[in-house]
Amino acid sequence: MIIAERKPIDEIKTFVKGKEKILLVACRGCVTVCNAGGTKEAGILASLLRLDAAKEGVPLKVDELTLERQCDPEYIFELSPSMGEKYDAILSMACSIGPQFIASAYPNEKVYPVLNTCFLGGALAHGVWAERCQACGNCIIHKFGGLCPISRCSKSLLNGPCGGSAGGKCEVSKEIDCVWQLIVEKVTSDGTMDEFLSLELVKDWRTSRDGGPRKIAREELLK
Ligand code: SF4
Ligand code: SF4
Repeated sequence: MIIAERKPIDEIKTFVKGKEKILLVACRGCVTVCNAGGTKEAGILASLLRLDAAKEGVPLKVDELTLERQCDPEYIFELSPSMGEKYDAILSMACSIGPQFIASAYPNEKVYPVLNTCFLGGALAHGVWAERCQACGNCIIHKFGGLCPISRCSKSLLNGPCGGSAGGKCEVSKEIDCVWQLIVEKVTSDGTMDEFLSLELVKDWRTSRDGGPRKIAREELLK
């Protein structure tokens, strides 16, 4: 899923400075699962902003709304009735796709991103998430013991480990496991070392981001 985290409160305060009425839009998708931009987090942020406004003696009305998803026009248009309220700003608590979709759907509204979208990953433990994919568009992890060297090696090496690997850790940080150590351990334990050693080290990068923004149009869904 997409992992995101809330921007620092001081940055969010600059978004609402001088505004009197804002709409905070939460999302029930990935950002609810990673506890960054769901209904609960919107409630906490709304309270913080109201308290801060009261302390500063400035008027600020904060309305809250949660959409099923903000990466789908079907749900974005559920905001339409709220737009009659004439908000000074819309603050989206989705990943960065949400505020872009809202900004496009409502040209007259000023939209701010409350979250920083960080990476594609999963939960390692409660409250801990880690990167696992860089969306290269041509998955090859089966050639690397099911582990992704592009997202998990600090240098995205396809022919690691580099000389900085020591004691199973990456030279970039002792906090980072050297994924190449893990790859070698995995292909040793699952008995596929021979296959691993014969792999081609040329990857087709045409599906990656370097060719410009990507799009998928699935024919069977367009009919
Ligand atoms: S090989 Fe590409 S698609 Fe597969 S996990 Fe790595 S970055 Fe993601
Ligand atoms: S030490 Fe391992 S993870 Fe770090 S850059 Fe080298 S091969 Fe990649």
